[in-house]
Amino acid sequence: MTNKLMKMRAQHAIARQSRRHASALVVCEGTGKFVVGGNWKCNGTKDSIDKLCASLNSGEITADVEVICAPPMVYIDRVQSKLNAPYQIAAQNCWVSKGGAFTGEVSAEMLKDANIPWVILGHSERRSLCGETNEFVGLKTKYALDTGVKVVACIGESLAQREAGDTLNVCFAQLKAILDCVTEKDWENIIIAYEPVWAIGTGKVATPDQAQEVHAGVRKWMSENVSPDVASKVRIQYGGSVNAGNCDELAMKPDIDGFLVGGASLDGEAFVKICNSAAHSK
Ligand code: PEP
Repeated sequence: MTNKLMKMRAQHAIARQSRRHASALVVCEGTGKFVVGGNWKCNGTKDSIDKLCASLNSGEITADVEVICAPPMVYIDRVQSKLNAPYQIAAQNCWVSKGGAFTGEVSAEMLKDANIPWVILGHSERRSLCGETNEFVGLKTKYALDTGVKVVACIGESLAQREAGDTLNVCFAQLKAILDCVTEKDWENIIIAYEPVWAIGTGKVATPDQAQEVHAGVRKWMSENVSPDVASKVRIQYGGSVNAGNCDELAMKPDIDGFLVGGASLDGEAFVKICNSAAHSK
């Protein structure tokens, strides 16, 4: 081989490598409307819930944001009759199939019948305390969607999994179990909530960079495993100790399309501030 040919080949190889490197850096950012959810969990009394609704109604949502509140099941009707627009309602869970002899459960049909448009599924508390597996969450997601209830699907790693370097693999396995059950079109009605377990209720929020890194990884996975179009449109919320003080900085990250908020969603003023952080979203 002549020197000239060797040099040309080397130049081609470098160009090929740098093109590959450049394409690896291409990230498709989220294009969906910012969406904030409030997960009230198993908290509240009639009295405290009435006060929270009043506080939310008096707060001014000035940003372009979709807001979804998830009260405890027994208070949903009450909250639904009290909260004004733009607040929407979600249940915190529903059964995996048609209702029947499932003591203590609520079916997706019931949610639909009660005009509850959203349900949170796969929250880490249900995964760890109630033994819900990835596959079960996938089946629940499909059943809810087929019944006409939209889904906030939670994923996220434990501290041990993060420390073992398994964060993305854990999230991908959780997503794969959903992907295996749903159609491409179903993703229009799914919000992904990335909630690192170690950040939930601990006051230990992921740094904006830590959250962005996982969100970008999830979006890239969606692009490769569903489609680039779905990946750019699907909304990925961050959840884990979001509060009125840290929301603006997190909202600035390009792949953070909203928040799922636990503790701070019980404080109307703080929650409204978190909703308005949508104004900082890029
Ligand atoms: C949650 O449980 O979904 C959550 C994010 O909780 P917190 O905001 O309290 O960490």
